[in-house]
Amino acid sequence: MHILVLGGTAEARALAAALHPEVRVTSSLAGRVASPRLPAGTVRIGGFGGVEGLVDWVRAHQVDAVIDATHPFAERISFNAARAAATTHVPLLALRRPGWVPVEGDDWHPVDSLGEAARALDGLGERVFLTTGRMGLAAFADCPQWFLVRSVDAPEAPMPARAEVLLDRGPFTLDGERGLLRAHRVDVLVTKDSGGAATAPKLRAAREAGIPVVVVRRPPVPEGVRVAATVEEAAAWVHG
Ligand code: NAP
Repeated sequence: MHILVLGGTAEARALAAALHPEVRVTSSLAGRVASPRLPAGTVRIGGFGGVEGLVDWVRAHQVDAVIDATHPFAERISFNAARAAATTHVPLLALRRPGWVPVEGDDWHPVDSLGEAARALDGLGERVFLTTGRMGLAAFADCPQWFLVRSVDAPEAPMPARAEVLLDRGPFTLDGERGLLRAHRVDVLVTKDSGGAATAPKLRAAREAGIPVVVVRRPPVPEGVRVAATVEEAAAWVHG
């Protein structure tokens, strides 16, 4: 059996580790990060060339099932996977960690896009901790606020004019996040609803400090695609 795992997340790495070596696994990475953490099993890096390229790859490598374990905000590849699975009749499962849920004391401002997040900042604060990653920073390019931009690799222009870049990669600690908010006198946090534990401490740190959080909602999983919430569930789907 040959499983193609569309990866780029901690869950995708955990799934490859759970399946390998009993099951033949190829993990696919987009190539966005300069030195990615590599999953167990075979790894291929780079885009497939749209739906057609993915269809060709699945056929040429005799893939028996595809697991889309990409980040909840990697919308294009998830859409391509759904189209390619429909074309090739290869089963597809989406592995999506659950989104975050606000708890008492949270001051969340949900929005549907980075552009909307940029507009939501007006009136929420002058010093912004932006944790949405290095892609899409153009949405904040015209914002007058000061930004602390945290990303794995250095972001490129266009980005906010008044910004300090902090290169770092999760998991992050609660103490670390508390310290960052204090040291940079952050008064508003911007995040995607990525879910998972690795980047959740910022939410608690913001709650404790009474800091509002602009939360970008997730795009939907493509229609008709079955979803697993955990690595165990996805591994069971492969074995079942
Ligand atoms: P995207 O917008 O959905 O995808 C854009 C293009 O990148 C796709 O059409 C595909 O190119 C290629 N691609 C994306 N993921 C791929 C994969 N796993 N293997 C091979 N090609 C892939 O994706 P994105 O938001 O730029 O994210 C890129 C990668 O970073 C994903 O693998 C995702 O899991 C990871 N990631 C994303 C975020 C985020 O916030 N978006 C956060 C953390 C990690 P072709 O059409 O040429 O095949």
